[in-house]
Amino acid sequence: MKVIIVGAGAAGLMAAKVLLENKVEVVILEARDRTGGRIFPIVNNKYGFTVQGGAEFVHGKLPVTLELLEEAGLTLKETTGKFLQLKNGMWQQSWEMIEDQEKVIEKMKGLKEDMPVAIYLETYFNDDQHKAMRESLCKYVEGYDAADPATASTLAFLKEWETEEDEQYRIEGGYGKLLDFIVDKINKAGANIIVDTVVKNIEWTTGDVTVTTAKNEKISADKIIVTVPLGVLTSPPGSPAHIKFYPALPAKIEAAGKIGSGFVIKVLLWFNDAFWEDGLAGNFDPEIKDAAFLISSETIPTWWTQLPDRSPLLTGWLAGPKAATFKDANEAEILQLAIDSLAKILNVSHAVISEKLLWSKVINWPADPFAVTAYHFETVETATAQAELATPVNDTIYFAGEAIHNGQSTATVESALTSGKITAELICKSLSK
Ligand SMILES: Cc1cc2nc3c(=O)[nH]c(=O)nc-3n(C[C@H](O)[C@H](O)[C@H](O)COP(=O)(O)OP(=O)(O)OC[C@H]3O[C@@H](n4cnc5c(N)ncnc54)[C@H](O)[C@@H]3O)c2cc1C
Repeated sequence: MKVIIVGAGAAGLMAAKVLLENKVEVVILEARDRTGGRIFPIVNNKYGFTVQGGAEFVHGKLPVTLELLEEAGLTLKETTGKFLQLKNGMWQQSWEMIEDQEKVIEKMKGLKEDMPVAIYLETYFNDDQHKAMRESLCKYVEGYDAADPATASTLAFLKEWETEEDEQYRIEGGYGKLLDFIVDKINKAGANIIVDTVVKNIEWTTGDVTVTTAKNEKISADKIIVTVPLGVLTSPPGSPAHIKFYPALPAKIEAAGKIGSGFVIKVLLWFNDAFWEDGLAGNFDPEIKDAAFLISSETIPTWWTQLPDRSPLLTGWLAGPKAATFKDANEAEILQLAIDSLAKILNVSHAVISEKLLWSKVINWPADPFAVTAYHFETVETATAQAELATPVNDTIYFAGEAIHNGQSTATVESALTSGKITAELICKSLSK
């Protein structure tokens, strides 16, 4: 039995691990020149640091991630620090992101049926008195879930709100360490990982698939697991990562289009010192010294530090539909926006930031043809669409990845790992029938 896996991200690598443990032959075809997908550690040898261009946090004590970490001998480090919001030029320390939070949640609990967040607000809080509430809820849905309030599910938001773990962690050494462990493990078990290989066509009949790559190579197997992001599955013909199925799978592609596609631009700024800690910021407040998150209304609104590590890195975050509008902007333009935003937030001049900046990197995920989507968000149609995508086609074509799994900690690495694991187990089960 041979299985082709399209994509060497968390889902693809995890599926390979489980298949190989069950003695199934695996070939992984990966478009990029690296493994990891939306896990993207960036190593800088000049200044001796590694930063995360993609996934960074572990959102709670998550079972599949924890099991892997234990197997790999890796540990988690809890994030610390204060959550500061800039309001009328003053820093306020508050985890409460949404105005009239209790009222918003209470009303949601009484909903008989799901609806998009924008409709929910229009229906129940459409007066002047609730303007700040409407804006803050939309800002939260966009910034945290990378979602579009026009389509994001209200009940999914409520569920997330009620079940979200408070503690956030980072893996000691970063997600790259976990990635290295899995890649090493599956290589030793005989995986054939082929990078720089864009899958263009998947021709299939029951129990038989042939992939054609962009280099016109053909690779055949009994089954295939497709783990590409939503933005790739729904990309139009002619785009660099588009995959054509013969026979076509319109129900699957339509389902992928019904799950919300979240967009993110991440900006990494490495300075010669953590200048925001020492009073240099114009509107300096001693609280900033211990800030984990700085939230504002600037173009790049959200920034975070590496606390408890006091490294001189600030990470800027723009998410939701607004991030997609910068898809065609170049790195220099986005960097300028980031410096503008940060200068305003810290109330210092551009010159101060530019003088102290040693290294920067803009990761424009919507512009990346092999991702487009940073992670999915739930629309009112997501559950049905996920069920459709999770159902294999004639025990031959399987879809996996963060967007297909709807369990604990949705839209995360945990989700991708779990989806890969479940899919591989499904294949192993079909073999023993
Ligand atoms: C900026 C950002 C921050 C995030 N932060 C967090 C976080 O803090 N914590 C967290 O848990 N999650 C976070 N996430 C989400 C997390 O990274 C993803 O949920 C997870 O990594 C997705 O894994 P996957 O295997 O489903 O998809 P991917 O990692 O995208 O893997 C799919 C692979 O398919 C490849 N591919 C695409 N098209 C083709 C093709 N045609 N042929 C061959 N290969 C192809 C891609 O190159 C990719 O390697 C973040 C994501 C982003 C972008």
